[in-house]
Amino acid sequence: MKKRRGSHRRERDGGARGKARGGAEPPGHVLPAGFVARVLADLGPHEGEELLASLRGPAQLGLRLDSRLGEPLDVMRRLGWSAEPLPWSPEGVLLHGGASAHEHAGRAQGPSRSGHPAASHPWHDAGVYYLQDPAAMGVVPVLDPRPGELILDLAAAPGGKSTYVADRLQGSGLLWSHDVDASRVGTLVGNLERWGAANVVVSHGPVARLAPLYGTFDRVLLDAPCSGEGMFRKSRAALDLWSPGRVAEFVAVQARLLDEAVELLKPGGVLVYATCTFGADEDEAAIDALLGRRDDVAPQTITVPG
Ligand code: SAM
Repeated sequence: MKKRRGSHRRERDGGARGKARGGAEPPGHVLPAGFVARVLADLGPHEGEELLASLRGPAQLGLRLDSRLGEPLDVMRRLGWSAEPLPWSPEGVLLHGGASAHEHAGRAQGPSRSGHPAASHPWHDAGVYYLQDPAAMGVVPVLDPRPGELILDLAAAPGGKSTYVADRLQGSGLLWSHDVDASRVGTLVGNLERWGAANVVVSHGPVARLAPLYGTFDRVLLDAPCSGEGMFRKSRAALDLWSPGRVAEFVAVQARLLDEAVELLKPGGVLVYATCTFGADEDEAAIDALLGRRDDVAPQTITVPG
């Protein structure tokens, strides 16, 4: 989305967001009945069943290499790990032969239940690469941060996307990484330090604390807190906590954060909104509602390779 410089005309010309596919329902778990019903109603039996089947499969393991250190496939070959490129992320690969190696909300981005050596290799602790869901690696290339710019990551912990933004900034400009949750910010700082990220400010607390920075940022990423349906393959908590009522609670938080995100953009700045969930209420409808509330933003059409 782009913040208008002056015009009050509103466009509705697209803004489709890529959706994650594939992955691992933790053994012994079933998808919430309300979620299954909604997916089938939204997508129809064919596409709906495809999505549900993918969510019952194994989680996929992605790895993103520090771009200062070479080409990801070359480095994977050197390590003896089989991998394939990710069309939507030049710095990332899909690793073969391992379940998800990290919990989204876990400790310092690290292994939890992977059989893949990437999760315990010393280069992981050295910040040579970051283990990240393949779909999650699609967001920062859409944000497209450029050296010299001022970038705000508004919901940044544990830092998967902040480390990616830092990589793209190449030490020039500024990354401001914020999260509401002080306990998660420790993990965020650890991951940014391990990455060797330069020119970064980290803050925590209610987003309203950032009000003095209204109108400042070239690009704002809102990787919003959400019901986490895209996490069902690897997170028991996401499965256990899901409910229609909880989805509605997130919709309200997302609306508030979207308004704050727009305020923090400079005129002409770009906002990217992402979630790790599938329902339209938290995705397309959240953007429609934002466009209904404000006449100073316009959607932009994006294309994502692959
Ligand atoms: N961007 C992160 C990454 O790539 O590693 C993942 C972010 S996670 C999807 C959503 C984050 O939003 C959580 O870290 C959570 O603490 C934070 N959050 C929840 N409510 C928030 C709020 N009201 N303001 C700011 N952040 C919030």
